[in-house]
Amino acid sequence: MLRIGLTGGIGSGKTTVAKVFETLGIPVYYADIAGKRLMNEDEELKEAVIKNFGSESYTDGKLNSAYIASVVFTDKEKLELLNSLVHPATIRDAQVWMGLQTAPYAIKEAALIFESGSGAELDFIIGVYAPQALRIKRTMERDKISREEVIKRMHNQVDEELKMKLCDFVIYNDEQQLVIAQVLELHERFLKEAQQR
Ligand code: ATP
Repeated sequence: MLRIGLTGGIGSGKTTVAKVFETLGIPVYYADIAGKRLMNEDEELKEAVIKNFGSESYTDGKLNSAYIASVVFTDKEKLELLNSLVHPATIRDAQVWMGLQTAPYAIKEAALIFESGSGAELDFIIGVYAPQALRIKRTMERDKISREEVIKRMHNQVDEELKMKLCDFVIYNDEQQLVIAQVLELHERFLKEAQQR
């Protein structure tokens, strides 16, 4: 089975594109959602979070997301530290999940594929590209937050143009090109590739 990564910056449309693949019957692993689940379920990860971020990180055994968010949104080093704890657990979990899939290919959707070093386990990586102004507008509308807040979050990610250069394929979600047509083209390609292997 082929293992495909799907990445892109905040508000680029990764999740939107992933949902289109899902309608074609392709299973998708959402790394962000999985990371949050693992922070509640993986005892080793929980211990590491408490050790580094304090006992306030959990209330009655449940992750105190508001507290963690308040710490990492304003401190880049703390965000990197949290990622360095969560990413290895998510990479392991995604590998197990991939091994259980029976479709011709499966997708891992993650904002930080290159940054977390998880690209090595993937056969191909798709980048979802949208111009920065559009990504800011979409994220402001989706999350009901200010322009400044979006820009602050974006500073923690690798430059978008550079990221797209590292991808094997790019889907342009820029309101200029049809997204579904681009997904269908890649779908056909991956099905062929999976059959040949
Ligand atoms: P994040 O990394 O922040 O989770 P993302 O890359 O997964 O973001 P999405 O949540 O898919 O991005 O998209 C951001 C917002 O833009 C959503 O509200 C989504 O509905 C909207 N959006 C994405 N693509 C399009 C599109 N082609 N047309 C209209 N709205 C779109």
